[in-house]
Amino acid sequence: MLPRINPLRLLLLGAPGSGKGTQTKKLKKLLPNILAISSGDLLREQVTKRTKLGKEVLQYIERGELVPDGLISRFVTAQLLKTKSESAQEQVQWLLDGFPRNLDQARSFQNTLRVLNMPLSNVIELKVPKSRILERLASRYIHEASGRTYNLSYNPPKTPGVDDLTGDPLVKRVDDSQVGVITRRLDDYDKFITPLRNYYNELGILSTVSGDTSDEIFPQILQVLNLNAAPAST
Ligand code: AMP
Repeated sequence: MLPRINPLRLLLLGAPGSGKGTQTKKLKKLLPNILAISSGDLLREQVTKRTKLGKEVLQYIERGELVPDGLISRFVTAQLLKTKSESAQEQVQWLLDGFPRNLDQARSFQNTLRVLNMPLSNVIELKVPKSRILERLASRYIHEASGRTYNLSYNPPKTPGVDDLTGDPLVKRVDDSQVGVITRRLDDYDKFITPLRNYYNELGILSTVSGDTSDEIFPQILQVLNLNAAPAST
């Protein structure tokens, strides 16, 4: 067995609908103190709150396009810096879902992490067959205010059409509703993943996990991270 890598600073790579959010939730249960940052969730929150940034990024999200690299890089770095002041830097464990998305973002992020003395410990790529991804995107619904995600096939709400906690109606994500937008997001992923994969592979921190379901993939992630399935006691 490899030694447990500490602190955990993990990137999850994977196509839209590959289950990065689900794996994040599962990891969060095991490691309650880990900071989980989803670039997409944070941007959608800005949109819902109608902030200046939210208004700026809405058009990109609606079209299924990536927001400009500089903007997302500054935004994600700001989230990490927030945590840096809150706890001792060497203890901060985090996991990022959805960032970086391309080689330029990855390179600039690597420079930022060097300056912050926060090296990445792992990058894990999730590979899920495209047919499964399309099914998942078609049956994914969200609670807009909180970002809670449901899937009608394997994670349905307790009452059809409404959020479990608030009873608010569930909606489709704006970028999950049109075939053209979904296709653009998946095509972009295919275009950008190879250079990204090569970059992290050369750094020696890339692992790949694959399967049809999140339950098949999660044990592989635990194995990569040398973690046990029992929740952490701290
Ligand atoms: P996601 O929830 O990860 O599918 O992201 C939803 C949308 O947010 C994307 O289609 C982009 O418009 C934007 N977005 C999220 N993360 C990034 C990123 N790292 N770079 C550029 N755009 C992003």
